[in-house]
Amino acid sequence: RPPCQESRLLIVGLGLIGGSLAAALRHSGFKGHISACDANASEIAQGIELGLIDNGGSQLAELLDDVSMVILAVPVLAMESVMTTLAASLHRASENVVITDVGSTKATIRDCAVRAFGEMPSSVVLGHPIAGSEKSGVSASDPALYVHHKVILTPEPNVDAGALARVQALWKAAGADVLQMSVERHDQVLARTSHLPHLLAFSLVDTLARQDERLEIFRYAAGGFRDFTRIAGSDPVMWRDIFIANRDAVLSSLDDFEAGLARLRQAVESGDSDSLIATFDRASHARHYFD
Ligand code: NAD
Repeated sequence: RPPCQESRLLIVGLGLIGGSLAAALRHSGFKGHISACDANASEIAQGIELGLIDNGGSQLAELLDDVSMVILAVPVLAMESVMTTLAASLHRASENVVITDVGSTKATIRDCAVRAFGEMPSSVVLGHPIAGSEKSGVSASDPALYVHHKVILTPEPNVDAGALARVQALWKAAGADVLQMSVERHDQVLARTSHLPHLLAFSLVDTLARQDERLEIFRYAAGGFRDFTRIAGSDPVMWRDIFIANRDAVLSSLDDFEAGLARLRQAVESGDSDSLIATFDRASHARHYFD
């Protein structure tokens, strides 16, 4: 892997995703400086203690001196205020600064950048690593989180080719495979492959938990249900933000799901053996994709 050549990185939001990026870069032999900004002082203290960052603080404007790249890794709805501070605090002298992000949705974050800067700067390259877990916080950082995982970049047509190449190099150094997609396609695809499945897990686990406050029934659950609870154990703030930010694409994938559920319900109700087998066959065959 070619090492990342940035001189000074600033990670805004030192949680699982930001912390894992710092860990991956350190692991790759990255020689530059890494600072971090986080609203929570204990994340910064832990990041220093773990050797992931050189310094940090909670005031973004005070951490921008000489940075070459800023990586935004805060929850999706916190991007707006961070972009606004960046736009107000980055000076003309720092024209070479590249801004990227890791947010799970892309259209609202692009809109934040446009609002904050007045137009989409050619030095902004938004992205999303398709890697993560139900854990959060810098203490869950994993230097191998991105290895052989995809990172989707969603550059706008006016993107600076040099800025794009630098963001690609950052992720390659972390071990990821980088690809590109439009913002709109990203949000539609992720609504189906990630947001909808999380919504279903939250709904299923909550439905059962509401019926039994002491969760007694969970004692009789096997691996399948346990897997649902793992997904439903994901960070509530992160997922609230995703569903608010990607509302339209999520609703459209939910429409398709509801139609499928209604067909399945009908098959169960009428004891339609052929229809049940056909549905389960198709679903079980799809599993081979991951073998
Ligand atoms: P996390 O909760 O582990 O970390 C987020 C950090 O941001 C926290 O330390 C929090 O204190 C900090 N923060 C919040 N608002 C802030 C602000 N205004 N200024 C400074 N710091 C602030 O969350 P995470 O899992 O690392 O997710 C971060 C981003 O990555 C989110 O946008 C999420 O959608 C995206 N993402 C998450 C996953 C995943 O599986 N966890 C995968 C891909 C992308």
